[in-house]
Amino acid sequence: MAEKTLDEHFRDWEGGAFGYGYGTGERPILEALKTFAETTHRNEHGYSYAHTELEEKLGATVAWLLINRLCQDHAIEYGSSPRFAWFHKHGARLIDYLRSHTVDELYEIVTDWDENYIHCSKRYCNCVSPARDGQCPHNPFWEQKEVYGTIEAAPKRIAPAESEGEG
Ligand SMILES: [Zn+2]
Repeated sequence: MAEKTLDEHFRDWEGGAFGYGYGTGERPILEALKTFAETTHRNEHGYSYAHTELEEKLGATVAWLLINRLCQDHAIEYGSSPRFAWFHKHGARLIDYLRSHTVDELYEIVTDWDENYIHCSKRYCNCVSPARDGQCPHNPFWEQKEVYGTIEAAPKRIAPAESEGEG
């Protein structure tokens, strides 16, 4: 299978974070995500935010639903509290991506219907051959944990018997 594009990885990310394993492409979610990204502050390591500014721009309910969702997704890094926290590495890539696309573009990317499109998720990867269990190792928006050695070492599918027909 051809390597996925960055847009396709974003589509998989959005589906995993807000869909039911695949994106439902709700425009208000993308609008809120875009506003969230625009409210962060660039620094030398990535981006940071203050919950007070997010609450002001998004309303406290939406701000905190997004903060909690993005924490659960491991996009946000924080110390003792996510009230003031930051996006590094994969999280910073996500904010970069959101900042560099309009809501219309994001909406088109996550709702582009193609019946042959094969999703990857945090539980299964279809873009490598053979497909395998475990988080897609190619998605730059997901935290890549040190588990791929384990996945690589997982038992291979049982090969067909070569002795068939003998005896
Ligand atoms: Zn994959």
